[in-house]
Amino acid sequence: MAKSSNDELVFLPLGGSNEIGMNFNLYGYGPPDDRKWIVVDLGVTFGDQTTPGVEVILPDPEFMEQNADRLLGIVLTHAHEDHIGAVAHLWPRFKAPIYATPFTAFILREKLREAGLLDEAEITIVPLGGTIELGPFKLELITLTHSIPEPNGLAIRTPLGTILHTGDWKIDPDPLLGGPTDIDAIRKLGDEGVLAMVCDSTNVFVDGHAGSEADVRKALIPLIASFKGKVAVACFASNVARMDSVIRAAEANGRRVCLVGRSMHRMAAAAKSVGLMTDLKPFVDDSEAKRLPANGVLYLCTGSQGEPRAALSRIAEGTHPHVNLGANDACVFSSRVIPGNDVPIRNLQNKLTERGVRLYTERDHPGIHVSGHPCRDELAQMYAWARPEIAVPTHGERRHLMEHAAFARDLQVPQQVTPRNGDMVRLAPGRAEIIDEVTAGRLYVDAGVVVPEHGEALRERRHAAYNGMLAVSVVLDGRGKIVSGPQVRALGLPTESEEHLDEVLNDLADEAETALRRMKGHDLEMDEAIEKAISRGVKKASQRIWGRRPVVETTVLRV
Ligand SMILES: [Zn+2]
Ligand SMILES: [Zn+2]
Repeated sequence: MAKSSNDELVFLPLGGSNEIGMNFNLYGYGPPDDRKWIVVDLGVTFGDQTTPGVEVILPDPEFMEQNADRLLGIVLTHAHEDHIGAVAHLWPRFKAPIYATPFTAFILREKLREAGLLDEAEITIVPLGGTIELGPFKLELITLTHSIPEPNGLAIRTPLGTILHTGDWKIDPDPLLGGPTDIDAIRKLGDEGVLAMVCDSTNVFVDGHAGSEADVRKALIPLIASFKGKVAVACFASNVARMDSVIRAAEANGRRVCLVGRSMHRMAAAAKSVGLMTDLKPFVDDSEAKRLPANGVLYLCTGSQGEPRAALSRIAEGTHPHVNLGANDACVFSSRVIPGNDVPIRNLQNKLTERGVRLYTERDHPGIHVSGHPCRDELAQMYAWARPEIAVPTHGERRHLMEHAAFARDLQVPQQVTPRNGDMVRLAPGRAEIIDEVTAGRLYVDAGVVVPEHGEALRERRHAAYNGMLAVSVVLDGRGKIVSGPQVRALGLPTESEEHLDEVLNDLADEAETALRRMKGHDLEMDEAIEKAISRGVKKASQRIWGRRPVVETTVLRV
């Protein structure tokens, strides 16, 4: 495609820049009023204590929705939740064809099936190292190494220059499953000329190398050999190479493997669908595992992050229907602590310890986990291979992105640009710069409903969680004369005793009545005005009693 004089090449992150999670990257090409777009990755992030009841958080797709008619395709680099988790939620809003390698496509299909979208969404399976042509964008997949099968970097060639979008990566010389990093392809791209490298920043503060999966396997075999009782190993199910290592370490020690947790089964099936883990002994199921001697079984579990409903938490609570661990048993955490999960993981580990289970974590046994993201030496290596003109750090919080930009400067990369979600960066022509800002933000999946980040329901729930709630009801006649009540009920508000509670509620009812009696004329015929006045009065009194302003819900009934 020939370039016209006012064509531009832009990069627009709508998620994943200034955070680790919910990656959502757009590339645009063409004149400002008629750009064609591609999306690279569409992931989720997860809720925490500040978002009670909200587990899944999506990037706000407003910009892409408005430009849906110019979206040529959605390309997925790999199957981690922070890269594909939002597809099933947001795809109906732009409905572009999806491109993914076989393993990623397998995982995505299941998600789309659950969402009832499988028949509607068009997924094109691209082989590893394959190419995709989308209008002015000519993409080539580059095999990298990470912590899931089939991680792909993307060479995105356009008439205004080539981008290397790394996705998530590390340099693992011996990844065990799948090929090593395709160094030749990256070098060749470097020779050809790379305009910009949009690159993973997760481990920019860590010196050296992330380490190889092969070393983890070597460390796990003797560790598991040292156990006499039952052993549970927790890792991310999506880390299929790790699953494979744990299973082989179990086999080497005469232990049969029992998978515990839904995602372990799902990932094992996905791995087998692409020809991985096919030469292993069959797994034993829960009831078979129970009949094996303690030193003849290894439980491979989900829940390394302390997720309350996952297998390991239930084992720690003693509520798992099939697996119980106690004195003489061991639990190996072949995983890291994801920032933000420190507290649930600590609670989980305390509960296991309470049962007498011995714990083995990366902290005291450094060989049993390696990261899937590039440390500084690996980043330097990648810059040396690709030799980009512009460094665009992504997949990091602000501090990661800024450190990554400084690191790239030290490596003599001529330009660095560090956009936030919503910042549109013009990569060419001219020097790279932020030229526009579009809507970016988060959407919450709240009880299955997609709601705005600052929506009413969660705000109220949070308010009620911190301050409690009061329900006031009063029955009036048509002219506003009290027939019965007001009555007040409290939820989540402390009192010294039952009697004291009655006293307090009576005081609040008096307060409600006073507020009502102060109202005159026409106002007494309007329920909404009455509810407002009563709520205001009761809130004020609550402030006096508890030093708090609870949620007050007033109901007026007319007879
Ligand atoms: Zn990621
Ligand atoms: Zn990843």
